[in-house]
Amino acid sequence: MGDVIPLIIDCIKSAASTIKNSSDRAKKGIFALVAVVAILASLSFTGTRIAYKVDYSGSNIATVSSKKQFNDAIELVAQMVEGDDVASTVEEPRFSATVVLGDDINNTQEVANAIIDNTDEIVAATVIKVDDSVVARGEKEMVDTLISTRLNSFNCNEGVCTSRFVRDVKYEDGYFIKSELDTKASIEGVVNSLGVVTEMRKTTDIIVPYKSTIEKTNEQIVGYSKVTVTGVSGVNRVTQDVVMVNGEVQSCVEISNEVVVAPVNEVVVKGTARTLASAKQKQQAHSAGFAFPLPSGSWQVSAYYGDGRGHKAVDLRAKSGTSIFAVADGTVIQSGWNGNYGYCVTIEHDDGTRTLYAHARQLCCNVGERVSQGEVIALVGTTGQSTGNHLHFEVIINGRNVDPAPYINLD
Ligand SMILES: [Zn+2]
Repeated sequence: MGDVIPLIIDCIKSAASTIKNSSDRAKKGIFALVAVVAILASLSFTGTRIAYKVDYSGSNIATVSSKKQFNDAIELVAQMVEGDDVASTVEEPRFSATVVLGDDINNTQEVANAIIDNTDEIVAATVIKVDDSVVARGEKEMVDTLISTRLNSFNCNEGVCTSRFVRDVKYEDGYFIKSELDTKASIEGVVNSLGVVTEMRKTTDIIVPYKSTIEKTNEQIVGYSKVTVTGVSGVNRVTQDVVMVNGEVQSCVEISNEVVVAPVNEVVVKGTARTLASAKQKQQAHSAGFAFPLPSGSWQVSAYYGDGRGHKAVDLRAKSGTSIFAVADGTVIQSGWNGNYGYCVTIEHDDGTRTLYAHARQLCCNVGERVSQGEVIALVGTTGQSTGNHLHFEVIINGRNVDPAPYINLD
């Protein structure tokens, strides 16, 4: 009711003046006074009262009981808003008297809030503090976005990430004078210079390659190789806690390592035998008394007989031009080009056994010629179907190939 009393006094003064200055108007003045008193009495009786609507920055923002209440609200604004001379940012309001119910008058805090909400120069902002020192202040939404972008910038898709700053970073929300805030570029510079710790729990499936076991068998020729158990790779699921600073891994601790699929190891059987000839066959072969077809120390076996490829000979690797000898006396029944054999010599020995020498570079005998054991019949080469200089040596009995190894003492 603080404003009502001056209003009444104003009315009484006005009425008195009217009576004093113009007796003609006295009645009207007295009538006016009575009317005002009646209005006031009626206001008081109905619980209504006179107040002021505050027109601020183009809109009606509050209803105050007095202009003083508005000034009190400005003081409150100055306390709520950080900055120099906050009061000067508050615009000049326009008051219009009104009659309201007592409840419709805003309290001072509400008025202060309304002033803040409607003053363009006052904004909600966030202060960033690093180790308790203010490093930047900016509009709340922008700061939130920049902070969140920085914190998430080292996340990766491999697991669930949580991020924090290396240093102690705190945020304080408040109201500030817009022109006293830092620019976006400057805040971005500050935020992006802060180190980020990213912690991640990462689960990865790792392929575990199968191992290969070699089983040797004397029941197969050297060169024989067969996979008897097919290898299957396994899968391990590894969970790790990874700590990164600015995306660089600082530590990686394995939390669990679980076998999802156990690997199946491969088994490969390899032959070690140089011949599969029986003891009797070997004895027979030795008794043929063949000499070795190449000079001592000039050769190496590169393939044995029946090594899984259906190879019906022994291959002896030697330098191009190495002498090839007749393994026993006999008659040359073939000496010339022979398809895949390339340049090839076949000798028939006295008991009907034939020996064949293939891939020669040069032939040194003619068909029909009688040759002696140890005589040079050709020179090593790589003609025909051949991948390197070698002698392909066959022994044929009754038109069938037999293992040459025991005949030239390779068993
Ligand atoms: Zn061969």
